[in-house]
Amino acid sequence: MTADEKTNIARFLDLAAAYAGNGYLSRERKYGFSDDPESEPGITGTINDPMGDNDSLAKIAEDIKACTLCRLCETRTNAVPGEGAANPVVMVIGEGPGADEDASGRPFVGRAGQLLDKMLTSIGLSRESNCFIANVIKCRPPANRDPLPDETAFCGSFLERQIRLLKPRFILCAGRISAQTLLNTTEPVGKIRGKFTKLETGDIETPLIATYHPAALIRNEDLKRPAWEDLKMLRTAIDKELEN
Ligand code: URA
Repeated sequence: MTADEKTNIARFLDLAAAYAGNGYLSRERKYGFSDDPESEPGITGTINDPMGDNDSLAKIAEDIKACTLCRLCETRTNAVPGEGAANPVVMVIGEGPGADEDASGRPFVGRAGQLLDKMLTSIGLSRESNCFIANVIKCRPPANRDPLPDETAFCGSFLERQIRLLKPRFILCAGRISAQTLLNTTEPVGKIRGKFTKLETGDIETPLIATYHPAALIRNEDLKRPAWEDLKMLRTAIDKELEN
């Protein structure tokens, strides 16, 4: 690895906040993305109209917290609906809650979550200003096992409601389970990453890019560089989109 590449990765992991503070965040303000947590669209939806015009983030979260469609409701401490900007540039979709998320009811708050926050900051994104962070499944599987097909299927309707309501400009899949579930493939994430695919959700088409899960980056240093390449691709695409 060259000295320049090492510098890039160090910046990505450790100097991200300073980089973003001088760069992309100010550009984002120029384009006026909402950083107002009160700006959530919609009014409370109804049980009979879950995907209708009256759906809202609050309603989806309420339905997730009350959900008993699969066995995971029996072992969860808290369901984890997701959080972030109501008008997101990027919706980050992970796998499912771990122990820290189950305890707090918030997505990506453990060690992997802290790395995810750094990764986002390195390209001028954050859950406070311009990202919504969610997961494929909303309740923690026992011992962090992979979600079972029926669990992903039941939770799929919540994820679909979130995508349809939030209309993110981009989706970033964090890790294998997220990428495989959203793209309906069994290809390894190493094959899926590094390119954009269009995700169709009802009549919405969202450009989607997948990368390695932050937990995988913690386990395997070699994955950091390709993950950084994915993030740079995403940032380039965002900049292009915002120019138009
Ligand atoms: N890993 C995930 O995929 N999602 C979380 O919310 C936390 C860890």
